[in-house]
Amino acid sequence: MLQITMPLNFLGTVYREIRQALVDMAEMFELLDQPAEVQDAPDARPLAVSGGAVELDAVAFGYEPERPILRGVTLRVGAGEKVAIVGPSGSGKSTVGRLLFRFYDVQGGALRIDGQDVRGVTQDSLHAAIGVVPQDTVLFNDTIRYNIAYGRDGASQDEIEAAARAAQIHDFIVSLPEGYETRVGERGLKLSGGEKQRVGIARTLLKDPPILLLDEATSALDTETERDIQAALALAGEGRTVLTIAHRLSTVADADRIVVLDAGQVVEEGSHAELLARQGRYASLWARQASEAEAA
Ligand code: ATP
Repeated sequence: MLQITMPLNFLGTVYREIRQALVDMAEMFELLDQPAEVQDAPDARPLAVSGGAVELDAVAFGYEPERPILRGVTLRVGAGEKVAIVGPSGSGKSTVGRLLFRFYDVQGGALRIDGQDVRGVTQDSLHAAIGVVPQDTVLFNDTIRYNIAYGRDGASQDEIEAAARAAQIHDFIVSLPEGYETRVGERGLKLSGGEKQRVGIARTLLKDPPILLLDEATSALDTETERDIQAALALAGEGRTVLTIAHRLSTVADADRIVVLDAGQVVEEGSHAELLARQGRYASLWARQASEAEAA
C-alpha cells in the first residue's frame, strides 16, 4: 500500500505545483506577453520580506536594444504605501510590473525589495511575496470554492470564506443556490466582469502577499461595479504595499502618491491634489480623460 500511496502523493504534489504555476502564468497574462527567460542566480537566496518596500533605483530597460522603454526610473514605495503609476499609453507602466516580478532583468540601475536586489533572490520567494490582481481573472471550469482556493493550497473553508468576505463577494456567493459549490467558467455560471474580478481578489488575498501589484482594467466598468471593485481593492490593500498600474486616472485619486511616467521617465510625483495644483503633465492627462469621459 505504502508503495502505491507514496508515488501518488508525489504526483499530487507535482500536479499542485504545475497547477499553481499555470495559474500564476494565467494571472500574469496581462502583464506578461513573453515567457520568463530569467534564471535564479547560483547563489540565490530566498527573499526575506520585512515590510515589502519596493525601490527602483535609476532603472533602465528596453525590450529591444535600440528602443529604451525605461530611462533611469527612480521610485520608492515604502512598506505599506499605496502608489499608483500613471502615464500615457506605452509609457512603460506595465513594464515596471514585469520587472518587479522579474520576468526581465533591468539593464541599468537596480530593483530592490526590502533592500534586496531581485536578481539575488529565488524567483519562487519573489513570486510568493507579490500578489497580482490582473485586468482579467481567469476562471477555471470548476466550483467557486476551487477557483478561490487556487490562491493557496490547503486553505480551509473558513480561510476561503474570509478571503471572499474581504473581496466583498461572499454575500453574492451564498445567495446562489449551490453557494461555494456553484460551478463557474465556460461550462458553468457566467460571472460578470466585476464578480470575476472579485473572485480574483479573493484568490490573491488567500495567498496573503505583502506586496500587491494591481493591473487596473483598461476598459471602464460601470460606475457601480467600479465602486465595488475599488472598495474591495482598498480593503485588500490594507497592511500591504500596493503598486497600481493605472491605465486610466479615474481610480487613482486615493493613492498615497501618484507617479507620472512619460517616455520612460518619472516626470511628476505627488498626491492627486498636489499634482492637479501643479498644472503640469498629470493635470493635462486628467483634463483630457475628463473631457473624453464626458464625450462618451
Ligand atoms: P498601456 O497603458 O497602453 O498599457 P503601458 O504604459 O503599460 O501602456 P508598456 O506595456 O509598459 O506600456 O509598454 C511600453 C512600451 O514597450 C510600448 O511601446 C510597448 O509597445 C513596448 N513593449 C511592451 N512589451 C513588449 C515586448 N514584449 N516586446 C517589445 N516591446 C514591448
